[in-house]
Amino acid sequence: MSESARKRSIAVIGAGVAGMMTAYALSKRGVQVLVIDAMSGPAEMCSRANAGIIAVGHAKAWAGPQAIGAMFKVIAGRDPSVKVSRILDPALWRWGIEFLANCTPHAHHRNTDALQRLSRYSRDLIAAAETEMDLPNEVRRNGGLYVFQNESQFNTYVASIKDHGDDSITALERDELIAREPGLSGLSSRLVGGLYSAADCVGDCRLFTQRTAAFLNKSNKARFCFGARVTGFRTSFNTIQAVRTDQGEIPCGAVILATGVETPELTRALGFAPNIYPVKGYSGTWTITDPAKVPALPFVDETELLAVAAYGGQLRVTAIAEFAAHDRSIPEERIAQIGDYVLRSFGDAVELKTPEFWSGLRPTTPAGPPFLGKVRKYSNLWINAGHGQLGWTMALGCGELLTQRIMGEQTPLQNPSSAASWLA
Ligand SMILES: Cc1cc2nc3c(=O)[nH]c(=O)nc-3n(C[C@H](O)[C@H](O)[C@H](O)COP(=O)(O)OP(=O)(O)OC[C@H]3O[C@@H](n4cnc5c(N)ncnc54)[C@H](O)[C@@H]3O)c2cc1C
Repeated sequence: MSESARKRSIAVIGAGVAGMMTAYALSKRGVQVLVIDAMSGPAEMCSRANAGIIAVGHAKAWAGPQAIGAMFKVIAGRDPSVKVSRILDPALWRWGIEFLANCTPHAHHRNTDALQRLSRYSRDLIAAAETEMDLPNEVRRNGGLYVFQNESQFNTYVASIKDHGDDSITALERDELIAREPGLSGLSSRLVGGLYSAADCVGDCRLFTQRTAAFLNKSNKARFCFGARVTGFRTSFNTIQAVRTDQGEIPCGAVILATGVETPELTRALGFAPNIYPVKGYSGTWTITDPAKVPALPFVDETELLAVAAYGGQLRVTAIAEFAAHDRSIPEERIAQIGDYVLRSFGDAVELKTPEFWSGLRPTTPAGPPFLGKVRKYSNLWINAGHGQLGWTMALGCGELLTQRIMGEQTPLQNPSSAASWLA
């Protein structure tokens, strides 16, 4: 980055977890940062009510050899956890074709490896960030569980971790699982076993993002412009001169796009459109009435495909991947699916009458890893978007890696970005 650009602010567009962790990493180098978001505060879109799991044990690309058979089941409407509601959406076809190209064993391995490296790197940055921002115990770092109701599915997973020789994951038979996490007793009769992933963590993604914003604001390390929608850019040759918003124009030295699912729409006028599809997910949040009967460790039910985590006196359950373009509605049947699971598993541990339901659009790339790097056509335009189901898991790491690239520092990870012709 040039000296004159460095003297002007870097505009980070998007105050979700990806944008805020990028602003945090930049601010540590003394860079002036301006965070711009259309919403009234941080983490109001996809980062708002996710499961909160730093899911290192789940850092796998969806695209892989097994996904091809699964796709037919989904299209036939026989998969309760994956839905396609807008099959004729051209953006879905563009995404789907690239997804299929990433289903080879080689591509799956490469993409999963990138997600793993990003997740582990990110996880290792949590403790230092908490100390620097004085956010003690914001994130619990004592692992997470992946539980199974189906014997053959469990055995397949156990065999695959043996093949990969991953010693941070331990297989547990049902009794060992319940001994490790007594809060699973309510569903123990349905379980056959589980995996314990020592690297996993859990914490409230929205709260962490909000507290990071408060820290940056209080310490004058960043400025914020909320309630301003970015509508375009003023450019001169290959340089972005200013960000255009519905509140007026903001001059800037460089721009970082951390705009989640809205990124392709925003960049189209600049001559490129990142292949990011919105994959809708749902969450329900219940007030806990008996903490002994809910799990302290977060878990993913691999058979019913739901994620469950307890923090801040609340139980959060998330589920479903739905390809429905930008529709954010919450149909009754989705509420029923999540509510039924909670009733069966934790019916006597939560206040059943007053759950809060939410939907969020996961910004998902066909390959899996996010787009992370410089946009080829412009000298000062960068991107950190497309984190899919792992945005909270990878946020600190992606913010740090992108900042290292912007500042011209050595980076410890080989480029983990999804590839694209428009990305340098
Ligand atoms: C049900 C569900 C459960 C999940 N569980 C987990 C989990 O357990 N662990 C995990 O790691 N991840 C999880 N995720 C994924 C995670 O929530 C996302 O990957 C992450 O929140 C994406 O963050 P982001 O900052 O990229 O996007 P967002 O949080 O959506 O932020 C993008 C921001 O950009 C702003 N913006 C966009 N366009 C403009 C514009 N033109 N002008 C101004 N502002 C703009 C938006 O207002 C928004 O605030 C889950 C997601 C869902 C839906």
